[in-house]
Amino acid sequence: MASSRDPVRDVLRIDYHVEAFPAGDEECLLIVPRVFVNRRNLLEDCTLDLRELVMSTRVEGECWLLICGCGTQGCGVDRPVEVSHCGESVRWEVPESLRSRSTTGAVRTYSFDRATYVATVAAALLQAQNLAQQSGSASEIGPHGFEIEELLGLDPVPSP
Ligand SMILES: [Zn+2]
Repeated sequence: MASSRDPVRDVLRIDYHVEAFPAGDEECLLIVPRVFVNRRNLLEDCTLDLRELVMSTRVEGECWLLICGCGTQGCGVDRPVEVSHCGESVRWEVPESLRSRSTTGAVRTYSFDRATYVATVAAALLQAQNLAQQSGSASEIGPHGFEIEELLGLDPVPSP
């Protein structure tokens, strides 16, 4: 029997891992995100701003959660993701070609189950914080300007 509620939801997966790269005589540890929606990689041209992602669990509107690694809004990635909360769903409208200057205005709309979305963001934040703690002072996270101290100071995401 079909439910009146649309059961089709998109699947968001976020995880972080650590990559080492040489920085002078030292080694720098970069905490690197991966973001997939339905197995589509959203970070081919950009990185994830975890601060904006955490905010998107509470606040609607334009959200620079996908952003150039340099951290400048409008650099390369020229438009934010439009986040809206509709009942039990969180919706993302992602510009089809984030780096294209001749955009047609096309967007991909994703709809996530709200409780699952919040849990996914909470888990991503915890994972990034744990990796930062393990990696110590030599670690970095993108985008530029997002310091490890700020990452470690972010409050946990409350359950919905
Ligand atoms: Zn840039």
